[in-house]
Amino acid sequence: MVVGNWKMHGSSAALVELDGIAEAARHARVDVAVCLPATLLMAAAQRARDPIIGAQDCHAHASGSHTGDVSAAMIADAGARLTIIGHSERRRDHGETDAIVNAKLDTAIAHGLGVILCVGESEAQRREGDPAAFVCRQVAASLPAQARADRLMIAYEPLWAIGSGRSASGEQIATIHTDIRRAVQDRLGDQGADVPILYGGSVTGDNADAILGLETVDGVLVGGASLTAERLAPIIAAA
Ligand code: PEP
Repeated sequence: MVVGNWKMHGSSAALVELDGIAEAARHARVDVAVCLPATLLMAAAQRARDPIIGAQDCHAHASGSHTGDVSAAMIADAGARLTIIGHSERRRDHGETDAIVNAKLDTAIAHGLGVILCVGESEAQRREGDPAAFVCRQVAASLPAQARADRLMIAYEPLWAIGSGRSASGEQIATIHTDIRRAVQDRLGDQGADVPILYGGSVTGDNADAILGLETVDGVLVGGASLTAERLAPIIAAA
């Protein structure tokens, strides 16, 4: 699975990039999704079936007095099939706690969306403590116990690797992914064995092969390098 995250970038003119991304995905026979700003979801979903169109967040409530927010039902209605939940930039910019993330995830799944739950430690947490323990606590607290595993993916995204040009090492990724797998199974039981675990943080065409070659890695979540088909195509080819 290769998932792009356009963050707060893009315009309707930039949707032309989706054509090149779909073309690259067809040749590689790999699942590719692109998570877009809410304003672009409907136009992108109407454009073509591929790549899979995703959102970057949804509100925890199905509807109501929440000015400026977008619900899971609205995202599904726009034609998107999945959404990112709990990205570290939302946890940082909007004070999203594990409890909020947990509620959002529940709502998104209830409305038929696939969910990519993001977890990851900060640089200070890695330096000072036990990053795996922190990340596993995030997984346990962010996952509703009744979450449907067939709609779920987890993305391990160390905060210090996002947008920094410094991806985690293979050993760091493999260690934490193994612990995340255990935490997901503790929370969801046997069905947790099938939940794809992705890596995100400065993935590019240069390091995708090595990262995707790790046994514990089921895919990648890509920010900066997903904005154009030219930059995302080598990552899709590596997958
Ligand atoms: C992200 O935003 O989820 C991400 C991984 O960004 P980048 O690839 O730019 O580090």
